[in-house]
Amino acid sequence: MFHFRENTLLLLKNESGYAIPTKGLLKNVVDQGVFLFEFDGIPCFLIRDLDLADQDILAYYEVNFLRNINQGEIDWVSVVAFQLRNWYAQHRFCGICGAAAQQHPFERAVQCTACNHVAYPTISPAIIVALKCKNKLLLARGVRFPEAFYSLVAGYTDVGETVEQTVAREVKEEVGLDVWNVKYYGSQPWPYSGSMMLGFIAEADDTQPLIPDPHEIADAGWFTAENLPSYPPARSIAGEMIEKFKAGIL
Ligand SMILES: [Zn+2]
Repeated sequence: MFHFRENTLLLLKNESGYAIPTKGLLKNVVDQGVFLFEFDGIPCFLIRDLDLADQDILAYYEVNFLRNINQGEIDWVSVVAFQLRNWYAQHRFCGICGAAAQQHPFERAVQCTACNHVAYPTISPAIIVALKCKNKLLLARGVRFPEAFYSLVAGYTDVGETVEQTVAREVKEEVGLDVWNVKYYGSQPWPYSGSMMLGFIAEADDTQPLIPDPHEIADAGWFTAENLPSYPPARSIAGEMIEKFKAGIL
């Protein structure tokens, strides 16, 4: 059972770490819950209303806190559930006529009780690209990143655009480079922003001048495997690709 309060999730803490509470542990559950997914073969539900009297073995923890525990699966299902919780909270009413929306009987969707309009969870495609030239990788520090934290160029796909076009446009806009030989790497859902990160590898020319977009990029440069700045952890596709570059296998 997943129950959130603002940006916190109700968890059970025991000797082996943190766990998602089972229905039996939750007293006074007043709603049926919304089916989310199966985790370890167990159906999981989102509980929106919960009267938490006498729940002293349970406590609420910041969703971001879960990144720091050594339980990757709990972290992952929690942020996926958090994305769904936020989506359901934003779709209580129909976007067409404003009447109340309710859970669709057999799809992951909500349906209007008046005009029958159906709304599905929104997933936003975004690209992330490892730009290579000879033995170097292009990394950029976003204006909103902490100091000295560099990552790959990334950005959202626009309406009417192919993801390959997004790669070319984002690289041109953010750092001023032309790209070629764009190859798909892999994907990663990213529940924090409701996006689907589509990873690419592409080539560029390190003699072409870098022109960082001042609204997006504080600094950008070419780095060899030996002089990489600090970068995201490998749980993100960006960190995974940078790790592979460092190991010489990207
Ligand atoms: Zn409606």
